[in-house]
Amino acid sequence: MKQFSEVAVVGGGIIGSAIAYYLAKAGHQVDLFEAGQVGSGSTQAAAGMLGAHSEYKAFGASLHSFARTSQKLYEEAETDIRRLVGIDIERRTGGLLQLVFTAEEKARVSEICSLEGVTWLDQTSAEKEVPGLTKSILGAVHIADDVHVTPAIACRGFHSAAQMLGARIHAFTRVDDVVNEAGWYRIQTSKGEWQADYAVIAGGVWSNVLLERLGLGTPFYPVKGECIAVTNTQMPLSCSLFHDQHYIVPRNNNELIIGATKVRDDWSTEPTFGGIQTVMEKARQMLPEIEKMPLLRSWAGLRPQTIDGKPLIGEHPEKKGLFIAAGHQRNGILLAPVTGKMICDLIDGNAVPEVWTKAFRVNRLNIGEE
Ligand code: FAD
Repeated sequence: MKQFSEVAVVGGGIIGSAIAYYLAKAGHQVDLFEAGQVGSGSTQAAAGMLGAHSEYKAFGASLHSFARTSQKLYEEAETDIRRLVGIDIERRTGGLLQLVFTAEEKARVSEICSLEGVTWLDQTSAEKEVPGLTKSILGAVHIADDVHVTPAIACRGFHSAAQMLGARIHAFTRVDDVVNEAGWYRIQTSKGEWQADYAVIAGGVWSNVLLERLGLGTPFYPVKGECIAVTNTQMPLSCSLFHDQHYIVPRNNNELIIGATKVRDDWSTEPTFGGIQTVMEKARQMLPEIEKMPLLRSWAGLRPQTIDGKPLIGEHPEKKGLFIAAGHQRNGILLAPVTGKMICDLIDGNAVPEVWTKAFRVNRLNIGEE
């Protein structure tokens, strides 16, 4: 028997969950379909940094303004999620310390140091901020707004809040096809067929399967990231440490998350000996005392990458009512709220900055423009 929905969201990672939340909040009837457990894809592997400044160096460009907007949306979402479902997404506000080892690196951070909320600290001041920090640095940039959340909990927060607002969450329900009928979409799932006015594909790196059927090629490839966690009962860490895309992120439960490698086109999700060795060495360079901390576990996840470094977010050029939101690479946790809100605004016909709709248009990679 066919069932009805207004908006069918495919994928229950942080992106699909945030989309469901913003749509449900705006009064839409949402059905979210997730092939496995909600949040079990790339999202559960992430460190959770909201690194709008540390990740995007082209300040003022489309991605930076998108990321900054998302950072700010997290403040509101955090309060709303707590109010609706009592979940604390563990947004820690100590910011991030980007370490600077060489004169060349120091020259590269001069622009960021002129931004609001960003402070240059010499080695002595940085060590006061983080006892045990390496003495080999020239200094560090403290970025107050680059805070972090716990990704699995943030994802649960979004979809639980969406559920509280009326969304239906269908875990262990794979979508096998999204078929454009006259004015509606047939959503074929492993548990039966649905009829929806709108469909949103937010399946992370696995979105390729459905996009290929829809004539949008296979725009995503995986970049595997390996991480470890240690228990830290020795030195309270008030902020994340960051250098050369490697990091140490403190969690509320005394864990330090240490990551991450970048292995292109590797679909495996087991960490390797060499990968773990790399992240350990990078962590030790930042915080030498870390080598004394008990090792807890290791894991790996797949970042959904696109060739031009930007996600695909928007409506299919010919199939009206079909939206895509995937390819957030190493920043999907950061970009989840603004992506959810953007999809909701596009469906509602609200204004969305043109710089974003242009930068993230979904057919740009197919037609070889960038
Ligand atoms: P996913 O979380 O992968 O979710 C997609 C979901 O869709 C999956 O659960 C999948 O089962 C489901 N799905 C796919 N196809 C179908 C289908 N046909 N039917 C039903 N369900 C389907 N980002 C940050 O912002 N900050 C960080 O600090 C950070 N650290 C990271 C560290 C590592 C090691 C890794 C690997 C990633 C990190 N990221 C970080 C990136 C972030 O994890 C991703 O960008 C983000 O999780 C992508 O979310 P998503 O919802 O698009 O994908």
